[in-house]
Amino acid sequence: MNSNLSRRGFLTRLGVGALVVGGSAALAACGKSGGGDAQCKDPTGASDALRKQNEYADKAVDATKKCSGCALYVADAACGKCTLFQSTPVSAEGGCKAWAKKA
Ligand code: SF4
Repeated sequence: MNSNLSRRGFLTRLGVGALVVGGSAALAACGKSGGGDAQCKDPTGASDALRKQNEYADKAVDATKKCSGCALYVADAACGKCTLFQSTPVSAEGGCKAWAKKA
């Protein structure tokens, strides 16, 4: 057996393995922080109880009752803010039980 090919094969497999592990780690980190809506979460966690109590979801269960159409929603650059949730970031596509139609 050619030892150069064996070494090359080993290094190739090692590189592919590292990419797979690295990619998985990156996806896991993305998932932990909420992926695309990661920046729309409360970074302090101070409003977590209120979010849970009102069953907030990054994707509104009822598409006609999204945060973007709620009276308590304040539009902002990347994410909006919810005044009910201590003006912490929420997704424009999100929603919760406290939804109130914008006047
Ligand atoms: S109160 Fe309105 S803006 Fe706040 S999370 Fe619920 S639906 Fe969104």
